[in-house]
Amino acid sequence: MLIVMKFGGTSVGSAERIAHAAKLAVDSAEQGHQVVVVTSAMSGVTNTLVDAAREASTGNWDPQVRQQLFDRHKAVADTLVGGSPQLHAAVVDTLWRRLDRFEKLCFGLSLVHDLTPRLLDAISGTGEMLAAPLLSAAINARGRVSHPHDATDLIVTTDHFGAAEPLAAETRAKARAVLLPAVERGEIPVVTGFIGATPDGVLTTLGRGGSDYSGSIIGAALDATEVWIWTDVDGVMTANPSEVPEARTLSEISYSEAAELAYYGAKVLHYKTILPAFRQRIPVRILNSFNPSHPGTRVSVDGDPSVGGVKAVTSIRKLTLVTISGTGMQGIPGIVAKAFEVVADEGANVLMISQASSENNICFTINESDAPRVIKALHTALEMELTRGHIEEIDGEASVAIVAAIGDRMRGKPGIAATVFGAFGAEGINVMAISQGSSERNISVVVAERDAAAAVRALHRAFGLEKAS
Ligand code: ASP
Ligand code: MG
Repeated sequence: MLIVMKFGGTSVGSAERIAHAAKLAVDSAEQGHQVVVVTSAMSGVTNTLVDAAREASTGNWDPQVRQQLFDRHKAVADTLVGGSPQLHAAVVDTLWRRLDRFEKLCFGLSLVHDLTPRLLDAISGTGEMLAAPLLSAAINARGRVSHPHDATDLIVTTDHFGAAEPLAAETRAKARAVLLPAVERGEIPVVTGFIGATPDGVLTTLGRGGSDYSGSIIGAALDATEVWIWTDVDGVMTANPSEVPEARTLSEISYSEAAELAYYGAKVLHYKTILPAFRQRIPVRILNSFNPSHPGTRVSVDGDPSVGGVKAVTSIRKLTLVTISGTGMQGIPGIVAKAFEVVADEGANVLMISQASSENNICFTINESDAPRVIKALHTALEMELTRGHIEEIDGEASVAIVAAIGDRMRGKPGIAATVFGAFGAEGINVMAISQGSSERNISVVVAERDAAAAVRALHRAFGLEKAS
C-alpha cells in the first residue's frame, strides 16, 4: 500500500509528539507500506505567525517572536537528534534560515504597513516549513531515510492567496516526479502541509486548517491506496460528545455523509479536504495519534452499507430564521428570485430553505450576524410587493438552530421523518421549519437555540445511535 499520512498540529505539538508521529510513520513502513508524510505546523505556531504579521503591519515588529519560535523548535531538535551532531546542525541551520526569512518579511512589513494576502501567506506558511525538517529528522533518528520537502515545489495552485486551489494536472506531475522515486528508494518523505505555490513559484496557502487538504491533494496526485489523517480524536462521531455523552465513533462513513457532517459543523473533517481523494475513490481514514490502536473512521465511496437510516445527528447554532409571508405571494413569480438576490448581494450564506406548496410563506436560515443587514435590504428590495400587499411580512427570528439527521441510507426508508417528529413531540420541542433535500441524505429541522441540545439528544436516542452498529 502507498499511504499518505497527515499529522495535525497537536500530533506534532512537542518533541515527544513528533517522535511519536515518526514512530507511527516508521511502523507502517516496517510493515511493508510505502509512506509519504504531510505535516502541519506545531500547534499554535500558525496563530503566532499570523498575529506577528498583523502586529508588524501596524508598525510593531517584535524580534522576540523570532527568538521564541527559534527556541521552541530548536529545543525539539535538541531532544530528537541532539545525539547526532551532523543531523542536528543541519536541522538547526534550516530553522535559522527559515526564521531569518520570516523576520525579514515582518520587518519589511513593519516599514510599509501593507499586509497583502500574498504577504500573509508568505509569513503564515513558515510554521510547516519549520515542522517538516523536525519530523523528517525524527524519522531519520529511527533509522529510516527521510528528507523534508516544501510543498511549494510539489503543489501548484491558483493565485487566490489565503485560499488557493490546487491545479491537479500540474501538481500531479510535480509531486510524482519528486515523491515516487523517494518512496521507491524506501525513504519516508515529509511534505509541508498548508502551502503550495503558483505556477510562477509564489508561495500560497490553502486556507486555515489546510493541511488536511494537502494530505488529500498529495494522496490524489500519487494515486495513494489510502490517506490517513492523524488527529487528536478517535474519528467522526455520531454526535458532538459534549452535547451527547453516549455519542460513538463511526467506523465507516461515505464521502457524502462526511460532506454533510462537515457542512453541519462536525469539525473533524473539512468538506474540501475530501474532494481530491473522493474524485479518485481513495479512502480517507481519521485516526487518533494519541490513541493509535483505535481503528478510527474510514471514509469511502459506500460508507458502511450495513447500517440503515440515520447515522449521525448534528447542529448549527447562532442562526436567524427569515420568513417572508403573505397570501398574495401565491402564483406571483419572481419574489423568491428577488429575495435570494438580496441575500447573495449581502454576501450572506443560506443554510436551509423551505417553502410550503401553498406558496404563502418562504423561509430560510442565515447566520445571526448577517440577519440585520439582510432583513433591511429585503424590506427595500421588496417594497413594492409590500405596498401592494403581495407580501404581508418580512420577519427574522433570532437565536435558532438547525438540527440535522444525516445518513445515506435514509433514502427510500419510510418512517424516518415520523421518528424525528415523534421524538421532538415527546420532548415538547417545537419545530419551526423543516427541510429535506431530494437526495434524502439529510433531514434538517429548525428549532429554538435553547432546544437544540435536547433536540440532538432526542434524535440520537430515537435512532439508537448509542448502540454499536
Ligand atoms: N497550520 C495551519 C493552520 O493552523 C494548517 C493546518 O494546521 O492544517 O491553519
Ligand atoms: Mg493547525
